Amino acid sequence: MAKNDGLGVSRVFMRAYSTRLWSILFLAVAALSMPGRDAGAANRATSTVAKDAHVGGDLTRTRFVADLSETVDFRVFLLADPYRIIVDLPEVKFLMPSGVGGKGKGLVSAFRYGLFAPGKSRIVIDVVEPVLIDKAFVRAAENGQPARLVIDLVRTSPEEFEKQRKKQTALRAIGTGNFQTSTEEIGDGKGRSDSAGRPKKTKPVIVIDPGHGGPDIGAPGDGFYEKDVVLSVSLQLRKALEAAGDYEVHMTRTKDVFIPLGERVAFSRRKGANLFVSIHANSAESHAAEGFETYFLSAAKTEDARRVARMENSAVRYENPSIDPESLGELNFILWDLAQNEYLRESSTLAESVQEEIDRRLALRSRGVKQAGFFVLNGAFMPAILFEMAFISNPKEESLLDDPAFQTRIADALAESLLAHLDRYSRKVYPATAAR
Ligand SMILES: [Zn+2]
Repeated sequence: MAKNDGLGVSRVFMRAYSTRLWSILFLAVAALSMPGRDAGAANRATSTVAKDAHVGGDLTRTRFVADLSETVDFRVFLLADPYRIIVDLPEVKFLMPSGVGGKGKGLVSAFRYGLFAPGKSRIVIDVVEPVLIDKAFVRAAENGQPARLVIDLVRTSPEEFEKQRKKQTALRAIGTGNFQTSTEEIGDGKGRSDSAGRPKKTKPVIVIDPGHGGPDIGAPGDGFYEKDVVLSVSLQLRKALEAAGDYEVHMTRTKDVFIPLGERVAFSRRKGANLFVSIHANSAESHAAEGFETYFLSAAKTEDARRVARMENSAVRYENPSIDPESLGELNFILWDLAQNEYLRESSTLAESVQEEIDRRLALRSRGVKQAGFFVLNGAFMPAILFEMAFISNPKEESLLDDPAFQTRIADALAESLLAHLDRYSRKVYPATAAR
């Protein structure tokens, strides 16, 4: 099968040999076929190194990430027969782990890479279905993390794929330079079925997610469980929000039942939610630990934030005992913040609003706004937070949590902060209602 992507010769080798071996073979072939390669190009220092690559997601959305030693310009486009994505880069030295491209995930079946022409490198990503490039960007190195090339793919129809492919061919024909810069994006967002398929709504939609349920009891208290108290507070919160009037409020559960973590956020997408709030009670080994904290989805910065994420993510054990919650942690974080990326700032503002309001109204210690990799916030196309209202492991706070008056107070404060946040953002989200 002739594949006009420059790295097509690799297919046979990819299947039979390791990537490293193939790279050597390919480079040898490339060198033989380019006798005229000038000394200047050969001597030009290649400083960018690609050290690793990761693929994450599912058959709806998949993210490809390459770890780079520095940011680079790039260009990305689609090819058909078979469906694949091409990423053109300046000359990059590939020091990837052996065999890294042999196995894909979600929409990606495999990927390969190599020197394509003097001064030019290429990554070819094979996909199992027609896809659109939803996002393509390079993120600078930060917090000890390398620079990253990120390509988000969403499944589409063969017709949409073809439309996109023709559009990009036309763009290339007019010539927009050698490389697409890191700020440009191909893809018109049509693959975003999540937002495109949303029902037209007239009121802001809030989804309340009482954590745990059914066999997943959450943190145990004396005579009650986390799953019970978060449901009580959530029901009170719904009441307070509905009393405020112009809001559509949904709950991921209204009784003691198990709901998989992924289903909770999928539910909020189906409802076209403008806010998603997951409600929990904290627990720690030390009985002295106290206070409330609000999280948004981002890589954990402290050991304590990691602990909370581990605890809340461990609910996946009830879905699939073979999943290690640890594997959903920060290492994979870059692979799963597909949707929340756009809403990080608003999610952190929402978290601040919650912390301020609770701090103003209740005599609890504010532990502040925090961030960690919560599975339940993954894939939320909306501002999304996880609220830890108090420590069930602290005897004083445990009795507060069990007190209906306290539950009402904390629910009212939560409602106030959510509404204040929606008001602040209403101009952006609802130009029509903001003009009332
Ligand atoms: Zn919890």
